[in-house]
Amino acid sequence: PYTGPSKEEVIALRKKYLSPAMFWHFREPVMITEGKMQYLFDEKGRRYLDAFAGIVTVSVGHCHPEVVAAVDRQNSLLQHTTTIYLNNEIAEYAKELADKMPGDLKVVYFVNSGSEANDMALMLARAYTGNYDMITLRNGYHGMSPETMGLCGQHTWKQPIPQGFGVRHAMNPDPYRGPFGNDGQKYAADVADLIAGATSGQVAGFIAETIQGVGGAVQLADGYLPAVHKLVREHGGVCIADEVQTGFGRTGSAFWGFQNAGVMPDIVTMAKGIGNGLPLAAVVTTPEIAASLAKRIHFNTFGGNPVCSAGGRAVLRVIEREGIQQNAAAVGSHLLSRLRALQQKHDLIGDVRGRGLMLGLELVKDRATKAPATAELGEVFERMKDMGVLMGKGGLYGNVFRIKPPMCITRQDADFLVDVMDHAMSTL
Ligand code: PMP
Repeated sequence: PYTGPSKEEVIALRKKYLSPAMFWHFREPVMITEGKMQYLFDEKGRRYLDAFAGIVTVSVGHCHPEVVAAVDRQNSLLQHTTTIYLNNEIAEYAKELADKMPGDLKVVYFVNSGSEANDMALMLARAYTGNYDMITLRNGYHGMSPETMGLCGQHTWKQPIPQGFGVRHAMNPDPYRGPFGNDGQKYAADVADLIAGATSGQVAGFIAETIQGVGGAVQLADGYLPAVHKLVREHGGVCIADEVQTGFGRTGSAFWGFQNAGVMPDIVTMAKGIGNGLPLAAVVTTPEIAASLAKRIHFNTFGGNPVCSAGGRAVLRVIEREGIQQNAAAVGSHLLSRLRALQQKHDLIGDVRGRGLMLGLELVKDRATKAPATAELGEVFERMKDMGVLMGKGGLYGNVFRIKPPMCITRQDADFLVDVMDHAMSTL
């Protein structure tokens, strides 16, 4: 049993010594002291079904035994040296990760967070093309470094500081709220307008999530990505897929989210699920693009350190051996159909969307006006927590449930989640 400081003591420590810009999820904060696969345990030993996976980070399960064993083994053998010496772990890991990529995406940079990965991707795009304007999407999220904060398209994450430069935010191709519905071509025309009206005509590139995560599991309108990739390349740019949330089989139907859209990016960024909780992230690109930064040294002290590499390799093995992607597809489609059925019952549910275990449920006060039901979501969210399910939330208006559990979740867990949601909504 847990024997550390009480919840009240931890709250006091946090208030005094940690950032005042931190937030907690529930009215009464939940304290988590243990995790096992798809479940979390609080300081009193109470179990919760984790439907948010540490914000889409725990991919194969909390403390998965094989990942723990790989990290433990490496931890006592060699923790760290940096890439000034050779080590097999980072080299073998780079090959194993590159083997998961299609086409010519074969050069890997290891870093420590999604923000760093996207910073690196921007640097590559600009160095390779010699241009600086970046096109990205409103409602997107790409990180908290000053550069990536500039890419974010939501006020929530904007600090009053200079952010990035040359970033142009295009209209979000949101099938539910966007003015053109699910017509990707019409939204792509906005990118053409943006390039013509706000840039020199030559751009460094385009970056987007393949399903928006923080923005509320928004799937980009049909045909949008192929059209925009073509357009951006015609204007000298490269295309970046931010797979920080959608990668590693989470969408079920593909290992990488961009494969669902039928596009082939030039640069792919990944974090979160890559390490199942370890501070690990990566950028993968082509040898040609990578060559653009080879005139000088590029260095990252912890990127790809032996412990994280050993853990990342174990994550790839587990995904393969346990059929994690197939499970995301099977449980995800069961969950999606049960949530669609729930939508028939509760008018509060305006939209149900997503793929695999990257799902969103948008709550509205009125299906015609689509007025965000933010307070109602907060209430359902609290009640679900009290019944043992920790949900995610997001979207520009905070009215979207984000359901992105560890991908080892079972059909029974999915049924439990929907039954709990049904009960919480029925008693609202
Ligand atoms: N890209 C996406 C799509 C993300 O969801 C996040 C984190 N929420 C990031 C980048 C930034 O990752 P990190 O917090 O590890 O810097």
